[in-house]
Amino acid sequence: MDKYYDIVVVGGGPGGISCAYFAARAGLKVLLMEKHPRFGEPVCCAEGLSCSGLESVIPVKKSWINSNIEGAILVSPAGRQIIVHHPKAGYILDRPLFESDLAEMAEYYGAVVLTDARAESLIGSPDDGYKGISCVINKQSIEFFGEIIIGADGVESQVAQWAGWDTTLSLDDCDAGAQYLMDNVQLEYPEYAKFYVGYEIAPGGYAWVFPKGEGKANVGVGVAARYLREKSVQQYLDDFLANNMPRARILKKMGGVIPLTRRINPLVKKNIMLVGDAGHLTDPISGAGIANALLSGKLAAQKCIKYLRNEHRGYAALAEYENEWDKLKKRQHQIYLTAQKLYVTISDQDLEVLIEFINENMGDRTFKGIDVAKVLKSIIFHHPRLLVKAVEFLPQIFRR
Ligand SMILES: Cc1cc2nc3c(=O)[nH]c(=O)nc-3n(C[C@H](O)[C@H](O)[C@H](O)COP(=O)(O)OP(=O)(O)OC[C@H]3O[C@@H](n4cnc5c(N)ncnc54)[C@H](O)[C@@H]3O)c2cc1C
Repeated sequence: MDKYYDIVVVGGGPGGISCAYFAARAGLKVLLMEKHPRFGEPVCCAEGLSCSGLESVIPVKKSWINSNIEGAILVSPAGRQIIVHHPKAGYILDRPLFESDLAEMAEYYGAVVLTDARAESLIGSPDDGYKGISCVINKQSIEFFGEIIIGADGVESQVAQWAGWDTTLSLDDCDAGAQYLMDNVQLEYPEYAKFYVGYEIAPGGYAWVFPKGEGKANVGVGVAARYLREKSVQQYLDDFLANNMPRARILKKMGGVIPLTRRINPLVKKNIMLVGDAGHLTDPISGAGIANALLSGKLAAQKCIKYLRNEHRGYAALAEYENEWDKLKKRQHQIYLTAQKLYVTISDQDLEVLIEFINENMGDRTFKGIDVAKVLKSIIFHHPRLLVKAVEFLPQIFRR
């Protein structure tokens, strides 16, 4: 196997595979390494994303989709249910199928794709630059060299840590998530994603039911880490199930950490770039990270192509990735983060008021598209107490 590549991508989640695919398609020599035996497994995700989040990055294949989402149902702490219709709102993916297919597409364009390959360390030093990755395959240590290294190894990115980034997440910067894949789930609206909020159910977060078709669903709970003192996140999920869907059957259990914070700064150091969760690029209001991982992988690949095609190579071409990301996402991210900081502090009474506001403005109506940032801004501006609190958060969110 060849040892020298243009790009070595560590981590075969949506971010890494997207980067490998777009770079290989442009003719770059790419190595993608994933520590698990199969892409997309184990699934640590509810697999939901907006149609636009997927379609804006790559043409969608039907086989990737378990179900189409046509709207959302919100359940308030007191059990009040409101429904918002939004045809073609989103997809629930089959992540193992989606990711293995995308990895195969990268392979088709010439990427070398390795599974059961765990990156162990960076080769090189911060001063002279990093030259490659040492990884373990079949208990043997093997070195691969690359002009550019992509850290796409998830929220606890080791690539980032090896290269000296501080990736620590404080209790205020993340949710803990627990989820079961379930069957025998009775759904009144099988094409709607359902969200439950309230302190008893998921303090600082929410519970979700994402239908996967044929009576199956991803059912989970995300709880702000700062509230996990008396009960574990799994206990929150078990209590939620006992109260809301006692007949459903657990097929698989999973869980993980969801970063809800500002992105890692910088996203690029010399020839090392961070994409997806490794760069903490999740949407801080929902915790969704698939679409941002796919997009960041694509943007990073585009900058690698530009850098490698330039005779007079300078790392500034790679650093453009960060500017590009901020151009597309910074403003939205700041609004979402402000809303998220408010959300974790508000009482169930406030939640009832907010849900009433959403009901008055959106309940039982059909939308072609929803500008979430606009909705959040309008909620904050219509509630003076939230506005006052928001102003307190602004300096920390808008600094930089
Ligand atoms: C409970 C839960 C539910 C979620 N639900 C949703 C949802 O519905 N929608 C949504 O958009 N987002 C959701 N998310 C977030 C979403 O899963 C992530 O944002 C997304 O997977 C990020 O993609 P990524 O490629 O950056 O990282 P990951 O998907 O984490 O991929 C990183 C990959 O790197 C590999 N890796 C790690 N270390 C090494 C190493 N040393 N060597 C080789 N490989 C390595 C890992 O095995 C993994 O495959 C959820 C998260 C959780 C925890």
